[in-house]
Amino acid sequence: MELIFLGTSSGTPTKTRNVSGVVVKEIDKKEWCLIDCGEGTQHQILKTKLSLNKLKAIFITHIHGDHCYGLPGLLASAGMGGRKEALTIVGSQEVFDYIEAVNSITELHLPYELLFVNVDKLDEEKIGTFKVSSIALSHRVSSFAYVFELNTATIKLNITKLKKVGIPPAPYWGILQSGKDIEFNNKKHKAIEYTETLKTSKKIIVCGDNDQPDLLKEKSVKADVIVHEATYTHKDFLKIGNGPMHSSALKIAEFAENIGLKNLVLTHFSPRYQEEPSAKNNIFEIESEAKAVFKGSLFLAKDFSRYTLGENGILTDKLKN
Ligand SMILES: [Zn+2]
Ligand SMILES: [Zn+2]
Repeated sequence: MELIFLGTSSGTPTKTRNVSGVVVKEIDKKEWCLIDCGEGTQHQILKTKLSLNKLKAIFITHIHGDHCYGLPGLLASAGMGGRKEALTIVGSQEVFDYIEAVNSITELHLPYELLFVNVDKLDEEKIGTFKVSSIALSHRVSSFAYVFELNTATIKLNITKLKKVGIPPAPYWGILQSGKDIEFNNKKHKAIEYTETLKTSKKIIVCGDNDQPDLLKEKSVKADVIVHEATYTHKDFLKIGNGPMHSSALKIAEFAENIGLKNLVLTHFSPRYQEEPSAKNNIFEIESEAKAVFKGSLFLAKDFSRYTLGENGILTDKLKN
C-alpha cells in the first residue's frame, strides 16, 4: 500500500503546504482513494500521475472547510474530463447536503453518478480492493478516521521440489502458479503439490481532526500505519486551550508509543510552524516533541510526500529514497 500527501496544512494553505488531502492506493496500481479534499486539491493532483478517471472513492473525515472545500471543483473537473464511471463518496449527512446544494445552485450536471455512503453505516465495506471501516473521533463537529485494510494472497512456487522432480520452467511453472494442474512425462502433477499460498494483510488508518487519540485504540490492533493530525506543539496547545479540539504532537506520540505502533505519520500542521529551523515557531519543534516519546518510525508529511508500506511492515519515505 502507499500514501501520497496532497495537503498537510491545517485551516489555511501556506506557500509550501496546501490544506488536507491524502491518497491511499496499492503500489503500482492506477486506482486510488482520496481522503479529504481541501480547496486546491485538484491543482495538487495535476502535479502527480493520479488520474481523476481512476479515482475509486472519496472519503471526507468531517465538514470543516479545510477538508472539503475542494470537492465541487474536483467533481466538476472529473466530469469535464470525461468521467462516466460512478464515484463513491463516503461521509456524514452534512457532506452529502453540501454537495447536493452546490450541485443544484450551480447547476452542476455531472455526467456520472455519485454513490453516497453514510459514514455511520460504513462497516467493513469493500471499496475497490480495500476493506474500509470508520472510527468516530472527537472534534468540534463529528469527525471520523478511515481504516483501510488490504488482504492479499500470493502463490509461491516450491522451486526446489520442481527442480528435484525435473519439471522444466517453460511452460509448466506459470501454469502451476496460476493454480492449474499439469501433465508432464505422461504423469499428472497437482498445482497444490508444488505451490504455497502466502497471505498478507496490511492496515493503514487515516484520521480526521481529533483531540482524543485513545478513541483509535480498539481498531489500532495490527495497524501498520496511523496518519494523524499534530496541529500544535504541546506548549502552544496549553496556551491556546482545547477550544479548537485538536491534538498536540506530544498527545498523539504518547498514544502511538503506548500501543507500540510501528509507523506514525503526522500532518495537518498549523501554518504558524515554518520550515526554517531559525524561525520562532518551526516544524522541527513538532518533530522533536514527538520523537522524545515515540520510539517507532516517525514521519512528518510534506505536500507530495509518498510513503510505501512494504510486506515487512516498514514504511519508506520515497522523497528521501
Ligand atoms: Zn482541519
Ligand atoms: Zn476540523
